[in-house]
Amino acid sequence: MRIGIIGGGQLGLMMAEAAHSLNHFVIGLDPIKDCPLSTVADSMIIANYNDLNAFDKLANLVDVITYEFENVDLDLIEKYIQKIPQKSSALRISKNRFLEKTFAVQSAIPTVKFELMDIQKDIFYPSIVKTTTGGYDGKGQFKLQSQNDVDNLRLNSESSYIIEELFHFDYEISVISTRGFSGEIIHFPIPKNTHKEGILFTCEITNDLPKEVCDKAIQYSELIASQLDYVGTIAVEYFVKNNQVYFNEFAPRPHNSGHYTIEGCNVSQFENHIRAITNDRLISPMLINNTWMINVLGQDDIFIERMNPTICTYHNYNKHEKKLNRKMGHITCVDENEELLEKTIEYIKG
Ligand code: ADP
Ligand code: MG
Repeated sequence: MRIGIIGGGQLGLMMAEAAHSLNHFVIGLDPIKDCPLSTVADSMIIANYNDLNAFDKLANLVDVITYEFENVDLDLIEKYIQKIPQKSSALRISKNRFLEKTFAVQSAIPTVKFELMDIQKDIFYPSIVKTTTGGYDGKGQFKLQSQNDVDNLRLNSESSYIIEELFHFDYEISVISTRGFSGEIIHFPIPKNTHKEGILFTCEITNDLPKEVCDKAIQYSELIASQLDYVGTIAVEYFVKNNQVYFNEFAPRPHNSGHYTIEGCNVSQFENHIRAITNDRLISPMLINNTWMINVLGQDDIFIERMNPTICTYHNYNKHEKKLNRKMGHITCVDENEELLEKTIEYIKG
């Protein structure tokens, strides 16, 4: 099939690699000529994400379209919805944190306490203020510990915000699932995630999380994906405290915490995504071996030097400009020996 990928970042790149392994043809759309996807796509349309002519051109050239990030224009997605199996509900809701958390509440899925922020009304702390739209990797978030932080808070009057209790979770997880056209849904082994400054740092996948936690999280993820009538790979992030599972947010696309699946599983989150959107058979994922993933940001070149090449693989996103906190690649470490994995990651982290 001919697949159009909107968004040329690392997710687009890894989607295209999976598409090629299944003998599909890939056309990318991104404003940046030498974006990561351009290094593997069969063809690129260089245009903005809200360029109607470019969307028209892409839609005419391909059988199916997928998007790899949430900031794509919703009206354009609606216009070409016939070719977009991910559809628009998941995108519309995940674009806005207030809608997203309200959707969870309406689905009877627990969340931490949150409200639409009104600076004139009661502000509680400790809390986190987050922009409702456009935030990612911890951007657009402010911690409030005291009235002093409130006094120093500089909010953009054009934006809206939510205020959330600062939650003392035991750990964070994410469920990566793929749902097919007929509603069948599969789930990847659940990673335990750590973040640094709001950016995903490491994922640990050892299949030894408490069963009740996994069962609950999977139950919530199934509910979310089916209510959205979503097709493709979807990721839902959760906080876990005292074995209770709390929804944080979801992403209607493959997710950074699922990158481990490329080496760690018999099928990757990208391959199942491509299989889903092309109405192909989904493959039931299994963990081949214990796996850890660590992100390599612009300032983390040293991580690559510290890799143990016998158990580690580096994925380079082919980005030209290195910037502080920009995701440049990731490292996956796979081995049955958990102790060795932990030591390897500790050494890489330094
Ligand atoms: P983003 O879209 O930037 O990923 P998140 O809401 O997932 O936004 O926040 C990023 C990270 O910040 C989370 O994975 C978590 O580590 C931390 N965080 C977010 N909200 C809370 C909260 N209410 N309490 C404690 N930590 C939080
Ligand atoms: Mg997040």
